[in-house]
Amino acid sequence: MTPPRKLHIKSYGCQMNVYDAQRMVDTLAGEGFVETAQAEEADLVILNTCHIREKASEKVYSELGRLRVAREEAARQGRDMKIAVAGCVAQAEGEEIIHRAPVVDVVVGPQSYHHLPQLLERASRDGKAIETEFPAADKFGFLPQPKPGAIRARGISAFVTVQEGCDKFCTFCVVPYTRGAEVSRPVDKIVDDVKRLTENGVRELTLIGQNVNAYHGEGPDGKSWPLGKLLQRLAEIPGIARLRYSTSHPRDVDDSLIEAHRDLASLMPFVHLPVQSGSDRMLAAMNRKHTVKDYRDVIERFRNVRQDIAFSSDFIVGFPGESAEDFSATLALVMQIGYAAAYSFKYSPRPGTPAADMRETVSTADMDERLARLQELIDSQQSAFNRAAIGTTVDVLFERPARNPGQIVGRTAWLQPAHVMASPDIIGQVMPVKIESLERYSLLGELAPAATRHRATPASNQISIGA
Ligand code: SF4
Repeated sequence: MTPPRKLHIKSYGCQMNVYDAQRMVDTLAGEGFVETAQAEEADLVILNTCHIREKASEKVYSELGRLRVAREEAARQGRDMKIAVAGCVAQAEGEEIIHRAPVVDVVVGPQSYHHLPQLLERASRDGKAIETEFPAADKFGFLPQPKPGAIRARGISAFVTVQEGCDKFCTFCVVPYTRGAEVSRPVDKIVDDVKRLTENGVRELTLIGQNVNAYHGEGPDGKSWPLGKLLQRLAEIPGIARLRYSTSHPRDVDDSLIEAHRDLASLMPFVHLPVQSGSDRMLAAMNRKHTVKDYRDVIERFRNVRQDIAFSSDFIVGFPGESAEDFSATLALVMQIGYAAAYSFKYSPRPGTPAADMRETVSTADMDERLARLQELIDSQQSAFNRAAIGTTVDVLFERPARNPGQIVGRTAWLQPAHVMASPDIIGQVMPVKIESLERYSLLGELAPAATRHRATPASNQISIGA
C-alpha cells in the first residue's frame, strides 16, 4: 500500500481562510494526503495567504524563502516537495508570484480550490500551474464534504461559509477584486452541511462570509432568504447550542437580523460590526456607504431587542486625508458605543484599490500616535467588559482541556475564554459558571449548580452607552 502523502497548510488572515484551509484538506484527502504540522516533512506545502494587511505579500515571500531551503533539504533526502500559494495574494498577484519565487509550483485563487488535484497534476507534468480565474461554476458545489472523523477532530465549533465576495468596494479593500462579487449559497445546501456537522458533535456554528449579512441565498420556497431567516431555520436543527455570524456590514443589517436576535436564544449576543472611522468625511472617502449616525442607529436597534448584546469592530487610523478632528471623532464614537473588543490598524495602501492613489497621506508619526491612543482606549473598554463578568454567572460552552492540568476551557456568549476545574465529560456542553476572577483575557470560575443558572444581566455586560 502506498503510504499517505503529507500536507502542510499555513493559513494567514481571516476566518474565511481557516475555513478554506479545511476545505483544501478535505479535497486533498481524496488524493491520499494527510495533514502534518511540520512543513519540513510535507510532500505538499500550501501557503493560504491574506492580502488585507500591511506587508502581507512580503511575509509570503519571506516564508517562501524558508520553504526553498526546506525543499532543497527534502530533495537531498530523495523527496519531492511541492509548494502552492493560495488565497488572496495568489489571486491578486497571480503569475508574478512564480516570477519572484520560482520555487512555487502552483498558484491558486480562492475560487478554484476544488481544482487543486488537477493543478498538482499539471504542475508535475508542465512544471508550473496557475489558476486565478473566477470560474462561472460555484466552487461550493464542487468542494467535498469533510469526513465524520475530520469533523470530530476539529472540535465542537465549526465555520460554515454561507456567502462569499463583496459588492461594496470600500476604497481601501481588495476583497471585491480578490474574492469577486457576492455569491450566496442556497439554504438547503447550508442546512445539509449543518446537519452533518451536528450529527458529528458540532455544537457551535459561525456562519461566515466577507459580507455575511448581505446573504440572499435561495430558500426552499424559491425566494431569496435574508440572513435572519436563515438563522431562524438553522436554530431549528437539533444539537445546535450556539449560532454566530461574521463579518457584517452596518448597511446590510435588516429587520430579519434584528428579529433573529430578538427571537433566538441560540443566536449569541456578540456582533462584529466594523465601522472603520467615526468621521463622516472619512466614511465617505472610504466609500463605506453609511454615516456615523447610521451606525449608531444600527447599534441601537440591536440593543433595543437584546440588551445584553456587545459589539466588536474594526478601525483604520491614518486613512488618506484623516485630520486630527476626524480622528477625535473616531475616539468619540468608541467612547459612545463601548466595545467588548476591537481591532485597529494603521492604513496601508493595497495596490489596485482607489485609496492607493489618494495623495493626502498621513505621516507615520501621526499614525503611530493615533493608533496607540485608540488601542489604549479599546483595551480599557475590553478590560472593563471582562471585569464586569466577575461575580456573575454566565453560560459557557466547554471546548477542550486547558493547558493547566484538570482545567477545562470554554467560551462565554461573548467569546471570552473561561476556565474551570472539572471533568472532561463537560466538553460539548453549555453549563453555568460562576466567574470569580480574571487573568489577562481569561475568566476563571467554578461550575454553578444548575438551579442558580441565569443569564448575565444586561447592565453587567455593557460598559459605556452614549446618546
Ligand atoms: S464591505 Fe468589507 S469586504 Fe467589502 S469592500 Fe468593504 S471592507 Fe472590503
